[in-house]
Amino acid sequence: MNYGQCVHCGNDVYESDERVSLSIGVAHFTCDQEYKLSCDLEMKEFMEQEKAQAKRENKLLARLKRTLKPKVYSFIEFMFEDHRVGSVEIVRFDKVSGSKERARDWVGESVAIRYVWDDTSTDYWGDGYGGLIWIPIGQGRYLQMHVWG
Ligand SMILES: [Zn+2]
Repeated sequence: MNYGQCVHCGNDVYESDERVSLSIGVAHFTCDQEYKLSCDLEMKEFMEQEKAQAKRENKLLARLKRTLKPKVYSFIEFMFEDHRVGSVEIVRFDKVSGSKERARDWVGESVAIRYVWDDTSTDYWGDGYGGLIWIPIGQGRYLQMHVWG
């Protein structure tokens, strides 16, 4: 008896084969084991990449905290407090886009930074937003961050 094609390798699964039934069809037992293993590896790799990324960002932020004026850094801290932030990196002006906006509009009060460049947009339902913003931090450098909330 033939159970159909294995969802992983595409070969027929026979009655004599060790097999597993999945919601998407049937698979050889060994194919499914291999598949699960590769998923685990991918997930592990992904998590390690995330960890490495977080480590880089923390290092970068620690460096900025040491080198920037406290007033400037406090604006960055504000972004972290009031929004979800990810993918933080320093870029040059040629990477900057979006519209130039008064930084204080983001905070609601006067801040050390005059302008930010804002490429965020609200989502279809209008209850969320997300995108990139750039904060000038001097010497032609811009702190690019992905913010959302
Ligand atoms: Zn197979």
